Amino acid sequence: MSESRTAVIIGSGIGGITTSIFLAKSGYSVTVLEKNSSPGGRCSQLVREGHRFDLGATMLLMPGIYRDVFKSLGLDLEEKVEMTPLETLYRIYFDSGDVIDFTTDEKKMEAQLEKIEPGSFKRSQDYVAKGYKIFQLSMKQLIGRNFYNIFQFATPANIPLLFKIKAFTSHFKYTRRFFTHPHLLMAYTFQNIYVGQSPFNSPALFSMVPAAELTEGSFFPKGGMYGIAEALINTAESAGVKFLYNTPVKQIMTSGKKATGVMLDDGEKISTDLVVANADLPYVYRSLLPDKRASARLERMKYSCSAICFHWGLDKVYSQIGHHSVFLSDGFRKGLDRIFRDKSVSDNPSFYVHAPTRSDSGAAPENQDSLSVIVATGHLEKGAGQDWDKLKDSVRSAVIKRLKQHGLDDIEEHIKFEIVYSPETWEKACNISKGSVFGSLGHNIFQMGYFRPHNRHDKYKNLYFVGGSTHPGNGVPNVLISARLVSERIQKEQNRNSG
Ligand SMILES: Cc1cc2nc3c(=O)[nH]c(=O)nc-3n(C[C@H](O)[C@H](O)[C@H](O)COP(=O)(O)OP(=O)(O)OC[C@H]3O[C@@H](n4cnc5c(N)ncnc54)[C@H](O)[C@@H]3O)c2cc1C
Repeated sequence: MSESRTAVIIGSGIGGITTSIFLAKSGYSVTVLEKNSSPGGRCSQLVREGHRFDLGATMLLMPGIYRDVFKSLGLDLEEKVEMTPLETLYRIYFDSGDVIDFTTDEKKMEAQLEKIEPGSFKRSQDYVAKGYKIFQLSMKQLIGRNFYNIFQFATPANIPLLFKIKAFTSHFKYTRRFFTHPHLLMAYTFQNIYVGQSPFNSPALFSMVPAAELTEGSFFPKGGMYGIAEALINTAESAGVKFLYNTPVKQIMTSGKKATGVMLDDGEKISTDLVVANADLPYVYRSLLPDKRASARLERMKYSCSAICFHWGLDKVYSQIGHHSVFLSDGFRKGLDRIFRDKSVSDNPSFYVHAPTRSDSGAAPENQDSLSVIVATGHLEKGAGQDWDKLKDSVRSAVIKRLKQHGLDDIEEHIKFEIVYSPETWEKACNISKGSVFGSLGHNIFQMGYFRPHNRHDKYKNLYFVGGSTHPGNGVPNVLISARLVSERIQKEQNRNSG
């Protein structure tokens, strides 16, 4: 391959940044075009008055994947990023006032689980061991590899695999084989929300998430999850990648079976040998490409849920709230139905609170605090009668009420400022279709593996995709894998084409 080959990457999310390093290291001259004024996309940060918030991702889970991908970039994760292991992954609060600390300390887990449901600790160990096996198997055969054609996916060997990884059993139903107490059923399934799905309608494959959390642990990178983006950007810049911010791409230019370049919002045209779109895939097909039929097909697919997020700068520290807290509400199923069926949110929603200063004092000024609240909601849907201003208000009141019940009685008086992201804000901020921030496409088995929109365009053979909406899916670990896979594919296909 000649050294002068050029690549343009649309978007500086984790997927775009990571791919830029792989391509630069293999000799491409790479330019990353980002519409926003700063990098990171859903893994970026907000800083205001000395308060720092992770905009989207807050938990570093499945550290093994980070280590692997960093290693294939020639980096040592722990050398690049200071990582704090969290013994307590999160505290789960129930409406009854009961709590469970999800922790890697087995003795603590045993004491808590046995109090709730005798015999459940041993069953939880079985659940975790089986879930972790599913994780390893899926990594090897479904998630961590490219599928170049249907015959690599629909093999005789993969049929028993799909049963082994519990692709056809609902996550909630499967969890019932292990636990009967509603709190335990909730505690071991709510993690499905990480990929924007209800545990009632997604495969038990996702039991791999709590299993991986409890097996590999959860970490906090110094500087927050943006610390990961920053480490990758520094590496990319050292490898010669050029980042242009405030540079929205308006169109991908094509000729015959090739992408020839991109046109920016201001009309400037940039020619290139290769285009990699890190922006949300359905958005790219809909807004940046001419083929409307493919876009209509994508429109009919299932989309993940969205979220309302509040970022609060506080002039007081509420030390009773730990680093990660999950507040689960009674009527778990009803709450999920409000999100996934009604495309709305319950009056008594479950939510998550991030308090990064518990592990990193740099996230707020001294004696002050930075809290982020994430509430899963339905995604944007025409005709669903959504009034986001009203929903934001009702969700905010419900969250404050619940926090007051846990001793944060004067929290409203101590909020110095608030930044709110609704599904509409998300859609605009990162061009995410329907504001479906966890994917954006859902992760049912018919939208995974070979069935997920491919990481290369079927017609334009030098147009590739990376990120949460292509293979393998949402979450920073998956997006890192996506970057590695697309880069491998580019090496394989473009070397062949140029050779
Ligand atoms: C609230 C929330 C909480 C989350 N929590 C976690 C967590 O705890 N752990 C975890 O691992 N994951 C978490 N995630 C998921 C994780 O953040 C995402 O999966 C990941 O960051 C997505 O990266 P990406 O590269 O696919 O896309 P993005 O981050 O969306 O990057 C795409 C980039 O493309 C840019 N772009 C779009 N259109 C254009 C255009 N026309 N021209 C130029 N640029 C364009 C966008 O501005 C954006 O910067 C969370 C997500 C959210 C929203």
